[in-house]
Amino acid sequence: MSEAAPIALLGMGKAQLEQWAQSHGQPAFRGRQLHDWIYAKGVSRVEQITVLSKGWREQLVTSVPPGLFDWTGRSRELHRSVAADGTTKLLLATPDNLSIETVGIPAAERLTVCVSSQVGCPMACRFCATGKGGLQRSLAVHEIVDQVLWVREVMGIRPSHVVFMGMGEPLLNLDAVLAAIACLCSELGMAQRQITLSTVGVANTLPRLAELALARLGRAQFTLAVSLHAPDQRLREELIPTAHAYPIEALLDDCRRYVAITGRRVSFEYILLGGLNDQPRHAEALARLLRGFQSHVNLIPYNPIDEEAFRRPEPAAVAAFCQVLADRHVAVSVRASRGLDADAACGQLRRRLAATLQPA
Ligand code: SAH
Repeated sequence: MSEAAPIALLGMGKAQLEQWAQSHGQPAFRGRQLHDWIYAKGVSRVEQITVLSKGWREQLVTSVPPGLFDWTGRSRELHRSVAADGTTKLLLATPDNLSIETVGIPAAERLTVCVSSQVGCPMACRFCATGKGGLQRSLAVHEIVDQVLWVREVMGIRPSHVVFMGMGEPLLNLDAVLAAIACLCSELGMAQRQITLSTVGVANTLPRLAELALARLGRAQFTLAVSLHAPDQRLREELIPTAHAYPIEALLDDCRRYVAITGRRVSFEYILLGGLNDQPRHAEALARLLRGFQSHVNLIPYNPIDEEAFRRPEPAAVAAFCQVLADRHVAVSVRASRGLDADAACGQLRRRLAATLQPA
């Protein structure tokens, strides 16, 4: 399911790094030093790890495996854009000349990193900028964790939350995404509860996600957010063409199975498109659909993208939608748009700049 990953140091735990050092003829404690410098200090090149002998560093610099800039597995910064509210969008370059978008979103007492799990996305949701370019490839573990380290470095704050809401469909890169969650928790000390995995749904995958999370992480405490976006199959298919292969009832059944296996509640994301799915009748249908389901609905007012003529919802429509859900005892919140002045919606920075920028 995941792409073959090069052997980068980023993504490895202490024991693996010790073994790696030993396999290079070094004592095990070198592995612990690598761990400290890669995760705690955040170096991006092995030459910077001055605690290692000069000879070994030189050897490592000349033996970087194909597909990496450096043994660490770090990427390079291509572009940075900072919005008035501090939201920082980074475009990172991979050795194969692709660009990854990641965003740091500061708020009181928290810093959320919105990470990408793939370069591009095959799901082609109509309102999403990323989907317009199709999928280039899935990201490897080190390329996901790297985004969190970049945001920490650029913003000078330790990220408290990670959301898989950047480019890509995490369920199509399950192995790397779960390994990245494990790494963020074990090596960077993040709490699984502060991590959210967002999916538009891939048939027959949610129960598997639950089981794999329990098997590989020991527990499934991250939040699962499902991008529902419509209260019925017809409208959902109109917005999400891939939904034709996954009826909304089957998706909700899989969500119930996910809840039964993990004991966690699921949250649903619902993009509000002016005049299209934001009317009180849609909210009533959504409340009926979710009746009896322990869930939370997160409303996302549409961020305009260049390629489509959807409209942002009127503030009064957002308020009315919320009220209908609240009246029917559905837990609901509205996501504030962040960093709109910097580069508009998700995925747009990359689409606007990737064509013109090359790695430094
Ligand atoms: N593929 C996953 C995660 C990436 S998108 C998923 O679909 O959930 C993260 C969230 O941003 C999704 O809920 C997605 O529907 C939403 N999104 C995409 N384009 C958007 C836009 N133009 N305006 C508002 N939200 C958008």
